[in-house]
Amino acid sequence: GYRSRAAYKLKQLADLENVIHGGDTVVDLGAAPGGWLQVAAERVGPQGTVIGVDLQRIKPLEDHDTVETVRGDMTEDRTRERVTDTAGGDVDVVVSDMAPNMTGEYHLDQARSLHLARQAFETSLELLETGGDFIVKVFEGPDVDAFRSDVEDEFQYVRATSPKASRDASSEIYLIGKGRLTAPIQTGD
Ligand code: SAM
Repeated sequence: GYRSRAAYKLKQLADLENVIHGGDTVVDLGAAPGGWLQVAAERVGPQGTVIGVDLQRIKPLEDHDTVETVRGDMTEDRTRERVTDTAGGDVDVVVSDMAPNMTGEYHLDQARSLHLARQAFETSLELLETGGDFIVKVFEGPDVDAFRSDVEDEFQYVRATSPKASRDASSEIYLIGKGRLTAPIQTGD
């Protein structure tokens, strides 16, 4: 079985826009407890690589030796550097299911969610090869349109969707950016 119900969301999202193929390298941000990692590992197969990052420790995935994990905060440079080093080159897909600790105050939770989504977007621009795909969760709010338009500038197209598996949950939506438009800039540091 899967470690989270969220696993079914990634299945729906990946099917919808044909994201994650055999042999891909996938980076999964906010990956604990690991449901998305299981789905991604199934899809990339033995020739692929999946890297999961979270603040929380992720229990090793016994069935999948293609999965590596990094424990850290994606808002910190040193964590992003470790992810880049672990990926070690071209990444085909970046997915983010990161969510803040909920305070229950929607305005605050939504602002934090958007901050995490923008962090994931910046990371996707650093890591993705041309043609690579990006999936990111964000809580609905007025400034999501501006975020979507920034993502649209960097991908062939963007689709916004709310997968069935999460519809009862809330106001969360996922943006799927298909086809990264330019190669990542090699900064050499
Ligand atoms: N997709 C996961 C699965 O299928 O098991 C569930 C992810 S859960 C909804 C959101 C995760 O985002 C939490 O585990 C949380 O620790 C993580 N997270 C939140 N802020 C983070 C940050 N700044 N850096 C890394 N992970 C973060």
